[in-house]
Amino acid sequence: MKFKNSFPLIIILILALIPIVRWFFMDPLSLRFFDLNSTTTSFGQITGLLGMILFSINLILSNRSRFFDKIFSGLHIFYDHHKWIGAVSFCFLLFHPLFLVVKYITVSVNSAAMFLLPGTNFAITMGIIALGAMIVLLVITLYLKIKYHIWRFSHKFMVGVFVFAILHTLLISSDISRDMFLRYYIFIFAFIGLAMGAYRSFFRIFFNKDFEFKVVKVNILNNSVAEIEIEPVDRKIEFRSGQFIFIRFVGVGISSEPHPFSIASNTGDDNLKIVIKSLGDYTSTINKVIKGMVAKVEGPFGSFYENNNSVKKEIWIAGGVGITPFLSMARSLGNINHNIDLYYCLKNPSEAVLLKELNAISVSNTKFRVITWYSEEKGFINADIIEKGSNGLKDGVVYICGPLPFMRILQSQFISKGVDKDNIHFEEFNFL
Ligand SMILES: Cc1cc2nc3c(=O)[nH]c(=O)nc-3n(C[C@H](O)[C@H](O)[C@H](O)COP(=O)(O)OP(=O)(O)OC[C@H]3O[C@@H](n4cnc5c(N)ncnc54)[C@H](O)[C@@H]3O)c2cc1C
Repeated sequence: MKFKNSFPLIIILILALIPIVRWFFMDPLSLRFFDLNSTTTSFGQITGLLGMILFSINLILSNRSRFFDKIFSGLHIFYDHHKWIGAVSFCFLLFHPLFLVVKYITVSVNSAAMFLLPGTNFAITMGIIALGAMIVLLVITLYLKIKYHIWRFSHKFMVGVFVFAILHTLLISSDISRDMFLRYYIFIFAFIGLAMGAYRSFFRIFFNKDFEFKVVKVNILNNSVAEIEIEPVDRKIEFRSGQFIFIRFVGVGISSEPHPFSIASNTGDDNLKIVIKSLGDYTSTINKVIKGMVAKVEGPFGSFYENNNSVKKEIWIAGGVGITPFLSMARSLGNINHNIDLYYCLKNPSEAVLLKELNAISVSNTKFRVITWYSEEKGFINADIIEKGSNGLKDGVVYICGPLPFMRILQSQFISKGVDKDNIHFEEFNFL
């Protein structure tokens, strides 16, 4: 992993470890780790501190933004980190009571059960409710295959879980209550986390920060693909080819949930075009989008494509609707002094709805070639075919967008042919 990519993680690690360092200096370690009971209690305290700080940081990270997109080098990486930080903080919070209960087990199973059951002590009850609710929500997030919008809705309750966790931390007599630095450190993070989590989950909608657009054209390309053009109402969006937006349409028959789509327009245009393939619950209602409808846009995000004239050759590979970022890249091509080969991979010619326009661009720009590949006729494309078709892969920069397995297989084939991993770029269409 490049330093640039690991930098935000190093910062998160330092922020999580600061309270632990403080904790280590509060009391002599000989007392902290004197016998089994004191040692397990100490581990209980450390896991509690780490769990709480990582939970707070993760709520801060629940707010996707252009700032996070930039410092995490992409929203996919940002969401990946959000996922594993959530999982790690959950493990710490799970082990927190398990370590603490050991000293009760050594007295009697009854007293251990009393410690773990809600009711005896208000502060402990808050903690147990928080942990129980977190277990339920994380099982839903990590293990159940549920529809995305249901998952998204259930995830909002994490903010409620966090309120119980804060009450537990605030009311319990602990190292946090007796040390001013720990108290301020944990509560400042907790309240920033709570405010940002609540903002993203419940209140963002009231702070109209999105760009407002109006649908000006809906172009049905075939029975499952449509191109939608939107025009800025007041502010336009500055974007680069290969970027994407979150869009929500406001109208009857279509959910107002924001969904991500690549921008397919020429970078010089004020209007934005998106091409949507109907694949699931939301995209299958896209036929409800009509001229004049309001569209709220968040973004742009992403950095899939770097227009760099110093490279020797570019190979673009699109699988199905993965053509959309390439459409913007092709529509925005200026004078290029290297060759660009676009492999447009589809099941059959009936899916090649954008081919006519791409061929027209290729006629006007001789450095740009379009090669179609129909899997029903010739099987799946692979790196051998591309190597032959493009006269070798040496010094080539590869851009791939399509279904995940398609991208992974091609990546490993290119790497085994000696293409540098850093010269293979992806756009993933799934955040989960
Ligand atoms: C960066 C990016 C660019 C994309 N560009 C395009 C494009 O140009 N054209 C196109 O047709 N599709 C594009 N997609 C895919 C498109 O966003 C999904 O197909 C669509 O959101 C699926 O919604 P659904 O309810 O129809 O399908 P479902 O079957 O409910 O969802 C399929 C998958 O899509 C993802 N998803 C669903 N809803 C959301 C949401 N609200 N936010 C984030 N992810 C969600 C989840 O991973 C889910 O598992 C893009 C996705 C991403 C991440």
